[in-house]
Amino acid sequence: QAAVPQPNDRGRVTGNRLDNVDPKKKVKACIVILARDSDLQSLRETMRGFEDRFNRRFHYPYVILNEEPFTEEFKNGIRPMTDSEIKFGQVPKEASDPQAKGMTWWGYPPFIDQERAARERAEMGKNNVPYGDKESYHHMCRFQSGFFFRHPLLDEYEYYWRVEPHVKFFCDIDYDVFQMMKDNDLKYGFNIAIAESPSTIPTLWETVMKFVDKHPELVKPNDDNVLRLISSSSDLDHYNGCHFWSNFEIGSLDFFRSPLYLEFFNHLDQAGGFFYERWGDAPVHSIAAALMLKRSEIHFFNDIGYQHFPLNHCPSEPYLQKKCICNSEDSIDWKIGSCLVPYAGLYPDYKWDEETY
Ligand code: GDP
Ligand code: MN
Repeated sequence: QAAVPQPNDRGRVTGNRLDNVDPKKKVKACIVILARDSDLQSLRETMRGFEDRFNRRFHYPYVILNEEPFTEEFKNGIRPMTDSEIKFGQVPKEASDPQAKGMTWWGYPPFIDQERAARERAEMGKNNVPYGDKESYHHMCRFQSGFFFRHPLLDEYEYYWRVEPHVKFFCDIDYDVFQMMKDNDLKYGFNIAIAESPSTIPTLWETVMKFVDKHPELVKPNDDNVLRLISSSSDLDHYNGCHFWSNFEIGSLDFFRSPLYLEFFNHLDQAGGFFYERWGDAPVHSIAAALMLKRSEIHFFNDIGYQHFPLNHCPSEPYLQKKCICNSEDSIDWKIGSCLVPYAGLYPDYKWDEETY
């Protein structure tokens, strides 16, 4: 007896919903959020949207981290926002903390000259380097660059989705994105790519190039990576600042935990630019992805409508199908400042106008 064709509910019913999935086969993945007590209200709003659009179907656990202990008031305000498990965690700040494995996770490592760091911060303040004079921001960027993925609460997971307070999700996400990442051997997903302001990273690229000198095999001659997204010149003599905006990331934790990435982070860390300059985790992650991942391992989540003020990504085509509430004309994708044009150029076979919905 032939199966009766079912009306296609655009994937919403036939997609990989949790109630169809053997829990044992579910991808080990979590939502990871760095936040402070003061983010309570904006995180509640973000989680409400995130649950409505995605996680009420899939029930991935949350790991919410802070370098200070969260108050009971914060935890009690967050818990009712999801049926999923939430793990609240503290960042082991000092190297002396047994969980910190001998490194400073949030603070000044011993090789940093703190007086110089203070002088440079004041200078960056005068020069209007974005967040340059904000001390905590430097610690945050270094933590997101080198440590979040080694927090013990993330040990059991293979993939993460980074979410921040104050972001919005514009469209339904009706398939299991982590399963999709795994099924397609994807390692890093983004939905906004923009150019970094050069004043935050004066010596980042030359520092990266010193790492490449130690690992010449990373600069593959076969065009199999996205290096041309970040440096158009064939000898890589210049970084154009293009990076995946890291407030949204869906990625492989094993990529960041790999010996090569850890060596890369340590190399950058020793150079001091997290403190003497204001290196962001976004260019750090993106340059690593460009050096170490294959083109086919990086994914543009065109279908995930998203806002991190002041930028939006809104799907370009049949957004009504995903109940998007954004206007694709407001999307940064093809506007000045976006790096999607050079990115798209790397994928000549990709059908940009008929994204697969
Ligand atoms: P922006 O997105 O670059 O403007 O910076 P945000 O202020 O949004 O910070 C990025 C992420 O780090 C967000 O998830 C913040 O909640 C978090 N964050 C920033 N600074 C701190 C901090 O000092 N402590 C903690 N716990 N979280 C922070
Ligand atoms: Mn933010």
